[in-house]
Amino acid sequence: MYPSEEKGFHKIPIIMNKSEQARKAKILDGKQVSSAVIGCVHEAIEKHVSMGGRRPGLAVVLVGDDPASSIYVQAKRRDCERAGILAKDFDLDASTSQEKLLDLIDRLNEAADTDGILVQLPLPGHIDETAVTNRIHADKDVDGFHAFNVGKLALRQPGLRPCTPRGVMALLHYYGIANRSMHAVVVGASNIVGRPMALELLLTGSTVTVSHRFTRNLEEHVRSAELLISAIGKPGIINSEWIRPGAIVVDVGISRQASGKLVGDIEFETAAKKASWISPVPGGVGPMTRATLMVNTAEAAGLDVGLPYTPQPTG
Ligand code: NAD
Repeated sequence: MYPSEEKGFHKIPIIMNKSEQARKAKILDGKQVSSAVIGCVHEAIEKHVSMGGRRPGLAVVLVGDDPASSIYVQAKRRDCERAGILAKDFDLDASTSQEKLLDLIDRLNEAADTDGILVQLPLPGHIDETAVTNRIHADKDVDGFHAFNVGKLALRQPGLRPCTPRGVMALLHYYGIANRSMHAVVVGASNIVGRPMALELLLTGSTVTVSHRFTRNLEEHVRSAELLISAIGKPGIINSEWIRPGAIVVDVGISRQASGKLVGDIEFETAAKKASWISPVPGGVGPMTRATLMVNTAEAAGLDVGLPYTPQPTG
């Protein structure tokens, strides 16, 4: 039994076929775990609504018609339906001015039926993303990108936390992987993934190395990682042969090949022969990110989703 099952996650059996059994690493199955997470959110919301509570609402703001962003937004709207969250769509023209977008955010900040505000990134070039992110009220910042919320995470007082790193922590926790005292190496230092990932790991007692484009000897760092988290977005930078035997490998990267196939940063088959656990792409971190958005929205509405993973401030 996974430790998390005792505390409320729906039980998911691990069923392996023959080729999976030949592989060394076990799979961190984000698709299945995210369904369990969304199940927890749904349960908490329906209980709340059945007792006369207001259904949580998420404003989903899309500026322009970037095909990838449109697909992400559609998926988030579907997740809202599964979770029992009311998605409110705001599809704006690509030429929308920054002032108009900020006005909309001001209105949504005031709206009593809106618990969370999501502005899909990237925004068109004429709009300052930092200004937009920081205009969202920190209590409605379900992406967890506001400087206040990132600062709280850094100061060991986590509030609304960035979805991808929080999703990674929930995925590890679900499988009973305790990262305390492990040497974790995060490759990538962006505001939305690498940096908050390092903060989550530090919060839970890992010894953390953050590598990035200016790092010398990436190979040396990767070879020393008991827990490797890659968030680069360029397949091939990390050679799977570098992976330390028995390491836990979480691949956040998503790249689309010319064939249309989605791949992670790390070549899966070789890595899976060396690692003890590995997350696939697709079906690993991506669904966890989206499920965490649902958790954050429910929490922004004041609900306790009952997820077993609560950070234990250490470090
Ligand atoms: P980003 O471009 O903002 O950051 C990439 C990071 O990689 C930078 O910090 C850069 O320093 C580092 N980097 C680049 N070249 C490097 C090199 N040669 N060696 C070491 N580090 C190097 O990207 P991001 O927004 O952080 O996203 C990273 C990847 O994760 C992308 O593929 C993105 O699509 C994916 N992503 C996935 C999810 C998900 O839910 N699975 C969520 C967000 C982002």
